[in-house]
Amino acid sequence: MSDLSDGAVETAEPSPAELVRYAGWFQRFIDPDRNADYRGVPWDVFRGLLIQHSADWKDGTPANPVATKELWSSVVEGRGESAAAVDGSKARKRLNDHWSELETMFRELVGRFSAGAVKEGFDGLLWPVKDRSPGGRSATYRLEWRPVGATVEQPTLPATYSELPFVLRYHEDKSSLRFSWLGRLFFLPLFFRRQSERAVRVDGRRRYVPVLALGMLALMTGLLLLLALATTTSSGLNWTLMLMSAVFYWVLLHPLARLYDRKIIMASPLFYPFKERDCQVELTWDDDAAENNRTYGYNLRLVRYAAECPLCGAKVWVNDGKLEFFDRLVGRCTDEPGEHVFSFDHQLLSGYWLRAPRR
Ligand SMILES: [Zn+2]
Repeated sequence: MSDLSDGAVETAEPSPAELVRYAGWFQRFIDPDRNADYRGVPWDVFRGLLIQHSADWKDGTPANPVATKELWSSVVEGRGESAAAVDGSKARKRLNDHWSELETMFRELVGRFSAGAVKEGFDGLLWPVKDRSPGGRSATYRLEWRPVGATVEQPTLPATYSELPFVLRYHEDKSSLRFSWLGRLFFLPLFFRRQSERAVRVDGRRRYVPVLALGMLALMTGLLLLLALATTTSSGLNWTLMLMSAVFYWVLLHPLARLYDRKIIMASPLFYPFKERDCQVELTWDDDAAENNRTYGYNLRLVRYAAECPLCGAKVWVNDGKLEFFDRLVGRCTDEPGEHVFSFDHQLLSGYWLRAPRR
């Protein structure tokens, strides 16, 4: 997926005075005391940027991009802690962790922000933008003015894709997903680093843990199967051991192997709170690792993809394809789950009607 700053339409930025007014309004809009959605560190980062930029705008000048250390210091101060202990590499690490989360959350809530902005008399929104600098130097951060209705960046579809019947676009549904306590309990003995309420990071030596776990599970499955065959007598197969082996395979080994193979699987309902539905676990490689002096690694994120049904307009959730679409994730419409079934392309975030009549 390309960077957010690509292809976005830039319009004339409002005057500094108008931007100060916007900053004031938006800070009230994302007041963490009024709405729990904005309580996380990613929003503290956004608030930090707003405050830094406001200082420039109050002087009547355009806002300067903010350096990593400077931004993280203001986040730390905003949380009521002393920024004296902030050092460069630590700031870079922490900020980078929260930045991608902020970008995702902002994109998901753009509809809400746009409605609020229009009501307040603004024709645009300030988007969070990160400027990566080449050569391993630290990145800078800023807010960019984009008109309301500027489309959220989406992957470009191959030309022939539009010939498919009833193409739909998936988006991440909710920014406030979090692992259940049971899910967190599961990750605890695996030594994965907790990155946010819904993401863990697997890097450095931790990367051997899943390999070991997979190996052990495969060994267990194989051993149980061997035992089952070895203890088979003339009276018949040892079904108890066969069953145990099958359970090991289906419940543990198969989904884990699938996650590393396909990069996305349906999350077990034990992993997310009871009131949520149809969540997925997604594996994303960290391309910024080298830039941020981190060991190569990846993140496991709890996500939920949704779309609008192009046939009836109801919500489409991503679900297991079951037997009919074996080994696939599909999108199913809530109002017509039997007929309005769509493919789910994780890379293109798109799908088409799988039950379309043949022409
Ligand atoms: Zn439908």
